[in-house]
Amino acid sequence: MITGTTQLLGVIGDPVEHSLSPAMHNAAIAHLGVDIVYLPLPVPNGRLTEAIAGFEAIGLRGFNITIPHKQAIMPLLNDISDIAQAVGAVNTVGWGKTGWWGTNTDVIGFIAPLKNLERNWTNASALVLGNGGAARAVVAGCTQLGCQEIWVVGRRAEKLEAFEKSWQQSPIQLPLKTFTWEHLPELLPNATLVVNTTPVGMHPNVDTCPLSPSEMAKLPPGAIAYDLIYTPSPTQFLQQATKQGAIAIDGLEMLVQQGAAALSLWLGQAAPVDVMRQTLSVQLGLD
Ligand code: NAP
Repeated sequence: MITGTTQLLGVIGDPVEHSLSPAMHNAAIAHLGVDIVYLPLPVPNGRLTEAIAGFEAIGLRGFNITIPHKQAIMPLLNDISDIAQAVGAVNTVGWGKTGWWGTNTDVIGFIAPLKNLERNWTNASALVLGNGGAARAVVAGCTQLGCQEIWVVGRRAEKLEAFEKSWQQSPIQLPLKTFTWEHLPELLPNATLVVNTTPVGMHPNVDTCPLSPSEMAKLPPGAIAYDLIYTPSPTQFLQQATKQGAIAIDGLEMLVQQGAAALSLWLGQAAPVDVMRQTLSVQLGLD
């Protein structure tokens, strides 16, 4: 029940109408019985500074950030975690003793299902398909896991070069190399983990796959195929990888775990991960 003492959390973005975060967080909040509500907060491009000042004035406890504000928010924060600085994007902000702090929980979210697998990551080679925003969290996550090598494959050489350079000032050191797409046939047979960070295969283009049949055939049995996409589940990439003997992980757990990590930072207590996962599955029609 919303009362006079109810505190506010939310998600900012433009648009935010499609966001699954309010449903996921409010289910968790109800389960915990805390006096908080989580709202969608549409903030247009160019209005971020005003919005943050307003959030401070009304005592908003924290918020998630989605497109287009994940980078723009950074100069407006008082404290940014090393991981968010390395990724170059903030997805979670909270109000603390020294003002607004920001971090990036996509990295924890990405790693969570991998940590459940018994693997020696120190001799693992991670192959990342795509070099956009999500690929940055994946690269930071693979570095945290301790992967020996991280290969990022993209379509455009100049964008790959910029991607590689952007990590040079980062607070984390990483074993990163970038390649254009035509190098995949050499890389795939030696990959332990292949992560699709491209939108290829996402609803409604459910019949597409980021790898061609001949590339797919090079995926070693026992490799881990991880698709950040959560609709459909499984994607073509995961279906074909499973046929090849790979272990498949879809993007739902990353979505759940980044949310759970944010909520536990705001509340200072463990988040009900099962409730959050169940709510998302229902919202996505996966249940
Ligand atoms: P983004 O910044 O737009 O990056 C997309 C990347 O995919 C770019 O490198 C782009 O290449 C590449 N790409 C796009 N179409 C391609 C194609 N047809 N063939 C090859 N490469 C292609 O997007 P993002 O924010 O990183 O998100 C990427 C995906 O991850 C989306 O499906 C998103 O839903 C998913 N995601 C999931 C979670 C989760 O919690 N599970 C979190 C974040 C993102 P160019 O740079 O050459 O254009």
